[in-house]
Amino acid sequence: MGTKRSAQIFRKAVKLIPGGVNSPVRAFKAVGGHPLFISKARGSKIYDADGNAYIDYIGSWGPMILGHCHPLVTSALKKAVDRGTSYGAPTELEVTLAEHTLKAFPSMEMVRFVSSGTEATMSAIRLARAYTKRDGILKFEGCYHGHADSLLVKAGSGAATLGVPDSPGVPADLAKHTFNATYNDLGSVRAVFEAAPVGIACVIVEGAPGNMGVVLPKDGFMEGLRRLCTKYGALLIMDEVMSGFRLCYGGAQKIYNIDPDLTCLGKVIGGGLPVGGFGGKRKIMEMLSPSGPVYQAGTLSGNPIAMTAGIETLKLLQKKGTYEKLYKTTNTLCDGIAEIAGRRGVPVHTAVAGSMFTVFFSEKPVTNWPDARGSDTARFGRYFTRMLKNGIYLPPSQFEAVFVGLSHTKEEITKTLEAAEKTFKGL
Ligand SMILES: *Cc1c(COP(=O)(O)O)cnc(C)c1O
Repeated sequence: MGTKRSAQIFRKAVKLIPGGVNSPVRAFKAVGGHPLFISKARGSKIYDADGNAYIDYIGSWGPMILGHCHPLVTSALKKAVDRGTSYGAPTELEVTLAEHTLKAFPSMEMVRFVSSGTEATMSAIRLARAYTKRDGILKFEGCYHGHADSLLVKAGSGAATLGVPDSPGVPADLAKHTFNATYNDLGSVRAVFEAAPVGIACVIVEGAPGNMGVVLPKDGFMEGLRRLCTKYGALLIMDEVMSGFRLCYGGAQKIYNIDPDLTCLGKVIGGGLPVGGFGGKRKIMEMLSPSGPVYQAGTLSGNPIAMTAGIETLKLLQKKGTYEKLYKTTNTLCDGIAEIAGRRGVPVHTAVAGSMFTVFFSEKPVTNWPDARGSDTARFGRYFTRMLKNGIYLPPSQFEAVFVGLSHTKEEITKTLEAAEKTFKGL
Protein backbone atom coordinates (compact mmCIF):
# COMPACT_ATOMS: atom_id res chain seq x y z
CA MET A 1 0.00 0.00 0.00
CA GLY A 2 2.03 2.96 -1.26
CA THR A 3 1.43 6.58 -0.36
CA LYS A 4 3.87 8.15 -2.82
CA ARG A 5 1.40 10.59 -4.27
CA SER A 6 0.38 11.86 -0.79
CA ALA A 7 4.07 12.31 0.07
CA GLN A 8 4.58 14.25 -3.15
CA ILE A 9 1.62 16.56 -2.56
CA PHE A 10 2.76 17.09 1.04
CA ARG A 11 6.23 18.20 -0.10
CA LYS A 12 4.57 20.82 -2.29
CA ALA A 13 2.02 21.76 0.39
CA VAL A 14 4.61 22.58 3.05
CA LYS A 15 6.10 25.21 0.73
CA LEU A 16 2.75 26.91 0.27
CA ILE A 17 0.79 26.34 3.48
CA PRO A 18 2.34 26.45 6.99
CA GLY A 19 3.04 22.84 7.93
CA GLY A 20 1.30 21.78 4.72
CA VAL A 21 -2.14 21.74 6.35
CA ASN A 22 -4.96 24.13 7.22
CA SER A 23 -5.57 22.71 10.70
CA PRO A 24 -2.68 21.37 12.80
CA VAL A 25 -3.84 17.89 13.86
CA ARG A 26 -4.10 16.85 10.21
CA ALA A 27 -0.31 16.96 9.88
CA PHE A 28 0.25 13.63 11.75
CA LYS A 29 2.91 15.38 13.88
CA ALA A 30 2.03 13.41 17.00
CA VAL A 31 2.41 10.04 15.29
CA GLY A 32 5.10 10.65 12.67
CA GLY A 33 4.99 10.21 8.90
CA HIS A 34 3.23 12.44 6.39
CA PRO A 35 -0.52 13.03 6.22
CA LEU A 36 -2.65 11.29 3.63
CA PHE A 37 -4.14 13.60 1.05
CA ILE A 38 -7.73 12.59 0.50
CA SER A 39 -9.34 12.52 -2.92
CA LYS A 40 -12.81 11.23 -2.11
CA ALA A 41 -15.01 9.55 0.48
CA ARG A 42 -18.22 7.58 0.47
CA GLY A 43 -20.13 5.94 3.31
CA SER A 44 -17.55 4.93 5.91
CA LYS A 45 -14.68 4.77 3.42
CA ILE A 46 -12.12 7.41 2.65
CA TYR A 47 -9.70 7.25 -0.31
CA ASP A 48 -6.27 8.85 -0.53
CA ALA A 49 -4.53 10.36 -3.53
CA ASP A 50 -2.80 7.02 -4.24
CA GLY A 51 -6.16 5.28 -4.45
CA ASN A 52 -5.90 3.41 -1.11
CA ALA A 53 -9.17 2.85 0.73
CA TYR A 54 -9.48 3.17 4.52
CA ILE A 55 -12.29 2.70 7.00
CA ASP A 56 -12.73 6.24 8.28
CA TYR A 57 -13.06 6.78 12.05
CA ILE A 58 -12.43 10.52 11.95
CA GLY A 59 -15.51 11.47 9.99
CA SER A 60 -14.16 14.99 9.51
CA TRP A 61 -13.70 15.13 13.32
CA GLY A 62 -17.31 14.38 14.01
CA PRO A 63 -19.65 15.97 11.47
CA MET A 64 -20.02 12.94 9.17
CA ILE A 65 -22.16 10.97 11.60
CA LEU A 66 -24.33 9.71 8.72
CA GLY A 67 -21.29 8.66 6.71
CA HIS A 68 -19.93 10.45 3.66
CA CYS A 69 -22.23 11.36 0.76
CA HIS A 70 -25.50 10.27 2.32
CA PRO A 71 -27.74 10.19 -0.77
CA LEU A 72 -30.50 12.31 0.78
CA VAL A 73 -28.07 14.98 1.97
CA THR A 74 -26.20 15.01 -1.32
CA SER A 75 -29.33 15.36 -3.44
CA ALA A 76 -30.66 18.19 -1.24
CA LEU A 77 -27.29 19.95 -1.56
CA LYS A 78 -27.25 19.63 -5.35
CA LYS A 79 -30.70 21.22 -5.54
CA ALA A 80 -29.65 23.96 -3.12
CA VAL A 81 -26.58 24.85 -5.19
CA ASP A 82 -28.81 25.46 -8.21
CA ARG A 83 -30.75 28.07 -6.24
CA GLY A 84 -27.59 30.10 -5.52
CA THR A 85 -24.82 29.58 -3.01
CA SER A 86 -24.99 32.74 -0.87
CA TYR A 87 -27.27 35.76 -0.66
CA GLY A 88 -26.15 37.81 2.33
CA ALA A 89 -29.84 38.04 3.22
CA PRO A 90 -31.96 35.88 5.50
CA THR A 91 -33.58 32.64 4.30
CA GLU A 92 -36.29 30.38 5.66
CA LEU A 93 -33.65 27.64 5.91
CA GLU A 94 -32.10 29.45 8.89
CA VAL A 95 -35.47 29.51 10.64
CA THR A 96 -35.94 25.80 9.96
CA LEU A 97 -32.53 24.85 11.36
CA ALA A 98 -33.17 27.11 14.37
CA GLU A 99 -36.47 25.30 15.02
CA HIS A 100 -34.77 21.89 14.87
CA THR A 101 -32.01 23.13 17.18
CA LEU A 102 -34.26 24.64 19.85
CA LYS A 103 -36.43 21.56 19.86
CA ALA A 104 -33.42 19.34 20.47
CA PHE A 105 -32.00 21.68 23.15
CA PRO A 106 -34.80 22.84 25.46
CA SER A 107 -32.33 25.00 27.42
CA MET A 108 -32.02 27.23 24.33
CA GLU A 109 -34.72 29.80 23.65
CA MET A 110 -32.87 31.50 20.81
CA VAL A 111 -29.90 30.63 18.62
CA ARG A 112 -27.53 32.52 16.32
CA PHE A 113 -25.72 30.63 13.55
CA VAL A 114 -22.09 31.22 12.65
CA SER A 115 -19.61 29.34 10.46
CA SER A 116 -17.43 27.46 12.97
CA GLY A 117 -17.26 26.19 16.51
CA THR A 118 -14.55 28.74 17.27
CA GLU A 119 -16.87 31.57 16.30
CA ALA A 120 -19.61 30.09 18.46
CA THR A 121 -17.54 29.90 21.66
CA MET A 122 -15.85 33.24 21.05
CA SER A 123 -19.22 34.95 20.60
CA ALA A 124 -20.82 33.16 23.55
CA ILE A 125 -18.02 34.41 25.79
CA ARG A 126 -18.40 37.98 24.57
CA LEU A 127 -22.09 37.74 25.33
CA ALA A 128 -21.50 36.27 28.80
CA ARG A 129 -19.05 39.08 29.60
CA ALA A 130 -21.52 41.69 28.41
CA TYR A 131 -24.44 40.16 30.26
CA THR A 132 -22.64 39.77 33.60
CA LYS A 133 -20.48 42.92 33.19
CA ARG A 134 -17.48 40.83 34.27
CA ASP A 135 -14.27 39.96 32.42
CA GLY A 136 -13.07 36.67 33.92
CA ILE A 137 -13.76 33.30 32.35
CA LEU A 138 -13.11 29.86 33.75
CA LYS A 139 -12.18 26.89 31.62
CA PHE A 140 -10.75 23.44 32.25
CA GLU A 141 -7.27 22.28 31.44
CA GLY A 142 -7.50 19.85 28.52
CA CYS A 143 -10.85 21.15 27.27
CA TYR A 144 -10.66 22.73 23.83
CA HIS A 145 -13.04 25.45 22.75
CA GLY A 146 -11.56 26.61 19.46
CA HIS A 147 -8.70 29.01 18.92
CA ALA A 148 -10.03 32.40 20.10
CA ASP A 149 -7.42 34.35 22.11
CA SER A 150 -9.20 34.14 25.47
CA LEU A 151 -9.45 30.37 25.20
CA LEU A 152 -5.87 29.57 24.25
CA VAL A 153 -4.74 29.74 27.81
CA LYS A 154 -3.56 27.00 30.13
CA ALA A 155 -3.23 26.78 33.87
CA GLY A 156 -0.39 28.35 35.77
CA SER A 157 1.03 26.63 38.83
CA GLY A 158 -2.27 26.41 40.65
CA ALA A 159 -5.91 26.54 39.75
CA ALA A 160 -6.37 29.98 41.23
CA THR A 161 -3.34 31.56 39.57
CA LEU A 162 -3.69 33.82 36.57
CA GLY A 163 -3.75 32.18 33.18
CA VAL A 164 -0.70 32.26 30.93
CA PRO A 165 -1.01 32.21 27.14
CA ASP A 166 -0.81 28.81 25.45
CA SER A 167 0.33 30.39 22.20
CA PRO A 168 2.61 33.26 21.28
CA GLY A 169 0.49 36.13 20.03
CA VAL A 170 -2.04 35.94 22.85
CA PRO A 171 -1.56 39.11 24.93
CA ALA A 172 -0.78 38.43 28.59
CA ASP A 173 -3.22 41.24 29.39
CA LEU A 174 -5.99 39.17 27.86
CA ALA A 175 -4.84 35.79 29.18
CA LYS A 176 -4.94 37.07 32.75
CA HIS A 177 -8.74 37.05 32.52
CA THR A 178 -8.80 33.32 31.79
CA PHE A 179 -8.71 30.99 34.79
CA ASN A 180 -8.12 27.28 34.58
CA ALA A 181 -9.47 24.55 36.78
CA THR A 182 -9.00 20.80 36.82
CA TYR A 183 -11.72 18.79 35.11
CA ASN A 184 -13.78 16.65 37.51
CA ASP A 185 -12.49 18.66 40.47
CA LEU A 186 -15.17 20.97 41.88
CA GLY A 187 -12.76 22.11 44.59
CA SER A 188 -10.53 23.68 41.94
CA VAL A 189 -13.56 25.52 40.52
CA ARG A 190 -14.62 26.79 43.92
CA ALA A 191 -11.06 27.99 44.56
CA VAL A 192 -11.15 30.11 41.40
CA PHE A 193 -14.51 31.61 42.29
CA GLU A 194 -13.30 32.45 45.78
CA ALA A 195 -9.90 33.81 44.77
CA ALA A 196 -10.55 35.53 41.45
CA PRO A 197 -9.57 39.17 41.75
CA VAL A 198 -12.01 39.98 38.93
CA GLY A 199 -15.48 38.49 38.78
CA ILE A 200 -16.02 35.37 36.72
CA ALA A 201 -18.45 35.98 33.85
CA CYS A 202 -18.80 32.34 32.87
CA VAL A 203 -17.62 28.79 33.20
CA ILE A 204 -17.16 27.11 29.83
CA VAL A 205 -17.00 23.34 29.73
CA GLU A 206 -17.21 20.68 27.03
CA GLY A 207 -20.48 18.75 27.12
CA ALA A 208 -18.46 15.57 27.38
CA PRO A 209 -14.78 16.29 26.80
CA GLY A 210 -13.42 14.79 23.60
CA ASN A 211 -10.42 17.01 23.07
CA MET A 212 -8.09 15.39 25.62
CA GLY A 213 -9.45 12.10 24.39
CA VAL A 214 -12.87 11.17 25.73
CA VAL A 215 -13.17 11.87 29.46
CA LEU A 216 -16.45 11.45 31.29
CA PRO A 217 -17.75 13.78 33.99
CA LYS A 218 -17.88 12.11 37.40
CA ASP A 219 -21.27 11.81 39.09
CA GLY A 220 -22.28 15.19 40.38
CA PHE A 221 -19.59 17.18 38.56
CA MET A 222 -21.87 18.87 36.02
CA GLU A 223 -24.56 19.50 38.67
CA GLY A 224 -21.88 20.98 40.90
CA LEU A 225 -20.78 23.36 38.14
CA ARG A 226 -24.36 24.47 37.58
CA ARG A 227 -24.74 25.10 41.32
CA LEU A 228 -21.49 27.05 41.64
CA CYS A 229 -22.31 29.22 38.61
CA THR A 230 -25.72 30.07 40.04
CA LYS A 231 -24.24 30.77 43.46
CA TYR A 232 -21.57 33.15 42.14
CA GLY A 233 -23.72 34.79 39.45
CA ALA A 234 -21.72 33.41 36.53
CA LEU A 235 -23.16 31.91 33.36
CA LEU A 236 -22.65 28.25 32.55
CA ILE A 237 -21.67 27.73 28.90
CA MET A 238 -21.84 24.15 27.70
CA ASP A 239 -19.64 23.78 24.65
CA GLU A 240 -21.44 21.02 22.78
CA VAL A 241 -19.64 21.61 19.49
CA MET A 242 -18.45 18.01 19.61
CA SER A 243 -21.02 16.36 21.89
CA GLY A 244 -24.11 17.95 20.31
CA PHE A 245 -26.09 15.38 18.26
CA ARG A 246 -23.19 12.96 18.84
CA LEU A 247 -24.07 11.66 22.32
CA CYS A 248 -27.78 11.61 21.57
CA TYR A 249 -30.31 13.66 19.62
CA GLY A 250 -29.62 16.75 21.70
CA GLY A 251 -26.46 16.97 23.77
CA ALA A 252 -24.66 16.04 26.96
CA GLN A 253 -27.00 18.45 28.77
CA LYS A 254 -29.88 16.10 28.04
CA ILE A 255 -27.96 13.07 29.31
CA TYR A 256 -26.73 14.78 32.47
CA ASN A 257 -29.91 16.81 32.92
CA ILE A 258 -28.19 20.19 33.09
CA ASP A 259 -29.77 23.54 32.21
CA PRO A 260 -26.90 25.74 30.94
CA ASP A 261 -27.33 29.46 30.27
CA LEU A 262 -25.63 29.22 26.89
CA THR A 263 -24.79 26.35 24.56
CA CYS A 264 -22.32 26.21 21.67
CA LEU A 265 -22.79 23.95 18.67
CA GLY A 266 -20.81 22.99 15.57
CA LYS A 267 -19.62 19.85 13.79
CA VAL A 268 -22.71 17.56 13.39
CA ILE A 269 -25.11 20.50 13.14
CA GLY A 270 -23.48 21.40 9.81
CA GLY A 271 -23.49 17.86 8.41
CA GLY A 272 -20.03 18.42 6.90
CA LEU A 273 -20.46 22.07 5.93
CA PRO A 274 -19.24 25.03 7.98
CA VAL A 275 -21.91 25.71 10.61
CA GLY A 276 -21.60 26.72 14.24
CA GLY A 277 -24.23 28.07 16.56
CA PHE A 278 -24.66 29.48 20.02
CA GLY A 279 -27.82 30.03 21.93
CA GLY A 280 -29.52 30.06 25.27
CA LYS A 281 -31.84 32.08 27.43
CA ARG A 282 -33.83 34.76 25.61
CA LYS A 283 -32.85 37.60 27.96
CA ILE A 284 -29.18 36.88 27.28
CA MET A 285 -29.51 36.26 23.53
CA GLU A 286 -31.52 39.43 23.00
CA MET A 287 -28.43 41.41 23.97
CA LEU A 288 -26.95 40.44 20.57
CA SER A 289 -27.01 42.92 17.73
CA PRO A 290 -29.20 43.97 16.04
CA SER A 291 -31.67 43.48 18.93
CA GLY A 292 -29.06 44.51 21.51
CA PRO A 293 -25.66 46.18 21.83
CA VAL A 294 -23.30 43.15 21.71
CA TYR A 295 -21.78 43.04 18.25
CA GLN A 296 -21.54 39.79 16.34
CA ALA A 297 -21.84 39.18 12.59
CA GLY A 298 -20.77 37.01 9.65
CA THR A 299 -20.84 37.41 5.86
CA LEU A 300 -21.51 33.71 5.33
CA SER A 301 -23.41 33.02 8.59
CA GLY A 302 -26.53 30.97 7.90
CA ASN A 303 -25.28 30.17 4.40
CA PRO A 304 -28.05 28.37 2.48
CA ILE A 305 -25.91 25.41 1.40
CA ALA A 306 -24.58 24.92 4.92
CA MET A 307 -28.08 25.25 6.45
CA THR A 308 -29.37 22.64 3.99
CA ALA A 309 -26.70 20.13 5.01
CA GLY A 310 -27.54 20.74 8.67
CA ILE A 311 -31.29 20.40 8.22
CA GLU A 312 -31.06 17.19 6.20
CA THR A 313 -28.59 15.68 8.65
CA LEU A 314 -30.76 16.46 11.68
CA LYS A 315 -33.86 15.09 9.93
CA LEU A 316 -32.12 11.78 9.31
CA LEU A 317 -30.78 11.62 12.87
CA GLN A 318 -34.32 11.86 14.23
CA LYS A 319 -35.24 8.47 12.76
CA LYS A 320 -36.12 5.90 15.37
CA GLY A 321 -33.30 3.60 16.45
CA THR A 322 -30.55 5.82 15.06
CA TYR A 323 -28.65 6.35 18.28
CA GLU A 324 -29.25 2.82 19.56
CA LYS A 325 -27.50 1.59 16.42
CA LEU A 326 -24.65 4.04 16.92
CA TYR A 327 -24.18 3.02 20.57
CA LYS A 328 -24.16 -0.65 19.65
CA THR A 329 -21.54 -0.22 16.94
CA THR A 330 -19.43 2.01 19.17
CA ASN A 331 -19.50 -0.36 22.14
CA THR A 332 -18.76 -3.42 20.01
CA LEU A 333 -15.70 -1.72 18.57
CA CYS A 334 -14.42 -0.17 21.79
CA ASP A 335 -14.97 -3.29 23.91
CA GLY A 336 -13.40 -5.39 21.16
CA ILE A 337 -10.22 -3.32 21.13
CA ALA A 338 -10.02 -3.33 24.95
CA GLU A 339 -10.41 -7.12 24.95
CA ILE A 340 -7.62 -7.59 22.42
CA ALA A 341 -5.33 -5.21 24.33
CA GLY A 342 -6.04 -7.09 27.56
CA ARG A 343 -5.25 -10.43 25.95
CA ARG A 344 -1.98 -9.04 24.57
CA GLY A 345 -0.97 -7.58 27.91
CA VAL A 346 -1.13 -3.95 26.75
CA PRO A 347 -2.56 -1.73 29.50
CA VAL A 348 -5.39 0.45 28.18
CA HIS A 349 -8.34 2.33 29.59
CA THR A 350 -11.26 3.18 27.41
CA ALA A 351 -13.93 5.86 27.70
CA VAL A 352 -17.11 5.93 25.62
CA ALA A 353 -19.43 8.92 25.21
CA GLY A 354 -22.32 8.02 22.93
CA SER A 355 -20.80 7.42 19.52
CA MET A 356 -17.25 8.48 20.32
CA PHE A 357 -14.55 6.82 22.36
CA THR A 358 -10.86 6.85 23.20
CA VAL A 359 -8.47 4.02 23.95
CA PHE A 360 -5.94 5.50 26.35
CA PHE A 361 -2.63 3.67 26.53
CA SER A 362 -2.67 4.23 30.25
CA GLU A 363 -2.28 2.09 33.36
CA LYS A 364 -5.02 4.00 35.16
CA PRO A 365 -8.42 5.48 34.30
CA VAL A 366 -8.32 8.97 32.81
CA THR A 367 -10.38 11.59 34.64
CA ASN A 368 -8.59 14.81 33.72
CA TRP A 369 -5.80 16.30 31.62
CA PRO A 370 -2.86 15.32 33.89
CA ASP A 371 -4.12 11.70 33.71
CA ALA A 372 -4.51 11.87 29.91
CA ARG A 373 -1.06 13.38 29.50
CA GLY A 374 0.40 10.40 31.35
CA SER A 375 -0.56 8.05 28.51
CA ASP A 376 2.09 6.18 26.54
CA THR A 377 2.00 8.30 23.38
CA ALA A 378 4.90 6.42 21.75
CA ARG A 379 2.87 3.23 21.96
CA PHE A 380 -0.17 5.08 20.66
CA GLY A 381 1.94 6.21 17.69
CA ARG A 382 2.86 2.61 16.85
CA TYR A 383 -0.79 1.57 17.23
CA PHE A 384 -1.93 4.36 14.90
CA THR A 385 0.69 3.57 12.23
CA ARG A 386 -0.02 -0.16 12.23
CA MET A 387 -3.78 0.34 12.10
CA LEU A 388 -3.34 2.73 9.17
CA LYS A 389 -1.19 0.19 7.33
CA ASN A 390 -4.09 -2.23 7.82
CA GLY A 391 -6.54 0.19 6.24
CA ILE A 392 -7.95 1.77 9.40
CA TYR A 393 -7.95 5.58 9.50
CA LEU A 394 -7.93 6.63 13.19
CA PRO A 395 -7.38 10.10 14.65
CA PRO A 396 -3.60 10.69 14.61
CA SER A 397 -3.35 11.63 18.29
CA GLN A 398 -3.86 9.97 21.66
CA PHE A 399 -5.83 13.02 22.73
CA GLU A 400 -8.63 12.78 20.21
CA ALA A 401 -11.84 10.79 20.00
CA VAL A 402 -12.64 8.01 17.56
CA PHE A 403 -15.89 8.89 15.78
CA VAL A 404 -18.30 6.12 14.86
CA GLY A 405 -20.96 6.72 12.23
CA LEU A 406 -24.18 5.16 10.98
CA SER A 407 -22.46 3.88 7.85
CA HIS A 408 -20.02 1.64 9.73
CA THR A 409 -21.17 -1.90 9.02
CA LYS A 410 -20.78 -5.04 11.10
CA GLU A 411 -18.29 -6.33 8.53
CA GLU A 412 -16.21 -3.17 8.87
CA ILE A 413 -16.16 -3.46 12.65
CA THR A 414 -15.00 -7.06 12.29
CA LYS A 415 -12.31 -5.93 9.85
CA THR A 416 -11.21 -3.21 12.23
CA LEU A 417 -10.93 -5.70 15.09
CA GLU A 418 -8.91 -8.04 12.85
CA ALA A 419 -6.54 -5.15 12.18
CA ALA A 420 -6.36 -4.50 15.93
CA GLU A 421 -5.56 -8.16 16.51
CA LYS A 422 -2.49 -7.85 14.24
CA THR A 423 -1.62 -4.41 15.61
CA PHE A 424 -1.50 -5.32 19.31
CA LYS A 425 0.79 -8.31 18.71
CA GLY A 426 4.13 -7.18 20.06
CA LEU A 427 2.96 -3.57 20.39
C1 LIG B 1 -14.06 21.36 17.36
C2 LIG B 1 -14.39 22.07 18.59
C3 LIG B 1 -14.42 23.47 18.65
C4 LIG B 1 -13.96 24.33 17.52
O1 LIG B 1 -14.75 24.21 16.39
P1 LIG B 1 -14.16 24.64 14.96
O2 LIG B 1 -15.31 24.46 14.03
O3 LIG B 1 -13.00 23.76 14.70
O4 LIG B 1 -13.74 26.06 15.08
C5 LIG B 1 -14.85 24.06 19.83
N1 LIG B 1 -15.23 23.32 20.87
C6 LIG B 1 -15.20 21.98 20.85
C7 LIG B 1 -15.68 21.22 22.04
C8 LIG B 1 -14.78 21.31 19.72
O5 LIG B 1 -14.73 19.97 19.73
